[in-house]
Amino acid sequence: MAKVAITPTESIWMAGYGARTKPSEGVQTDLYLKALALDDGTGRPSVLVTSDLVGLRRQVTDGIAERCEKEYGLTRERLVINSSHTHSGPTTGEFAIRAGYEGQTEVVRRYTAALIEKAVETVGTALRNMSPARLEFSQGFAGIAVNRRRDHPGTRGLPAPVDHDVPVLAIRNPDGSLRAVVFGYACHNTTLGAYKINADYAGYAQEALEKIYPGATALFVLGCAGDANPLPRYQGTDDALKHYSLELVTMYGKILAASVDLALHAKMRPVTGPLKTAFERVDIPFQKSPSKAELQARLKNRDSDIRTQAERMLRVIEQQGKLPDHYPDPVQVWQFGRSLKFIALGGEVVVDYSLRLKARYGWEDTWVAAYCNDVFAYVPSARVLQEGGYEARGGDGGPFTAVTEEIIVEKVHELVRRTSP
Ligand SMILES: [Zn+2]
Repeated sequence: MAKVAITPTESIWMAGYGARTKPSEGVQTDLYLKALALDDGTGRPSVLVTSDLVGLRRQVTDGIAERCEKEYGLTRERLVINSSHTHSGPTTGEFAIRAGYEGQTEVVRRYTAALIEKAVETVGTALRNMSPARLEFSQGFAGIAVNRRRDHPGTRGLPAPVDHDVPVLAIRNPDGSLRAVVFGYACHNTTLGAYKINADYAGYAQEALEKIYPGATALFVLGCAGDANPLPRYQGTDDALKHYSLELVTMYGKILAASVDLALHAKMRPVTGPLKTAFERVDIPFQKSPSKAELQARLKNRDSDIRTQAERMLRVIEQQGKLPDHYPDPVQVWQFGRSLKFIALGGEVVVDYSLRLKARYGWEDTWVAAYCNDVFAYVPSARVLQEGGYEARGGDGGPFTAVTEEIIVEKVHELVRRTSP
């Protein structure tokens, strides 16, 4: 295990909400990047990295992965990089500069460079820190996530699938004491909406667990949270209601930590080796590109999301000459012996994927993570694409097509076959 604080040390442009008008104003909780190195006895360890960040794009994770391969011989399929998707953290990588805040380009560039450095170092520390351990797996439940696609005027009639499972991987010392716990949940870290740096409910849950188990490290892995919000939440400015935001985020953290702790006290199943790993990028196609003139017309749309996406697509045309016709979506599978199957998907994956993959591979021992390796866009299911709405709007090349779900599920299956015991 290793962990490092990645709390910004200066006021920085925050990630997550497009409507923000100024950089961060102070720190409420620290943010961390954590690494867990696992060696099944073959001398070829694998490393899981978690981070209290909105999500890292490929440009950043490639930077980390290439250095880890060069310095530690850690190949790409043996490194997973997950983000909690906190909306109260800093921006990383490239971002659109707001007029009046040009100086933020340099602040974000400096933060990103330091982040890559810290991530590589922390992976190295985890690799040097390995000592004998046994692994156990179990799952709890937590009812924080609500399918947020119903939370808009006129959409309460939509179906509302959620994934309330709380997968828990315990890493125990030979004497049985807890050294680390990795836990997951499928819900946006969007309880808060202010200008203070905060790891949101996942941060409070990790902190609570590290208090219950002094000396142990708690790592949060975000699941298929694309269409789930913690509800209720309060992000307005009414003084009489403001107290809710901090009360709710603390409470959600406690609920999740309680679920993990109850799972740790119940009967857990042993997780065995060997650990087999596979990683691939699969091309998911965009729908036919809109013309430049059409995108320029969208800049006047009343919907700020449509305007923001049009701005982003015009920037892509400016930088690359044209819009891409597909996106290389990273898909990764870690198979632990005949026990746990850990599926790590890229992007903001909606909940249908997690439910479908667990139904296919087994509810008891399949863990579906998302926001891994490249957080490039929402990844809609066929159902969500058909319904339309926010999570169906796509990425740099516009909306994805109806075959997206089948392409990803097929690629997962190919990697599952390749890693099967
Ligand atoms: Zn999101």
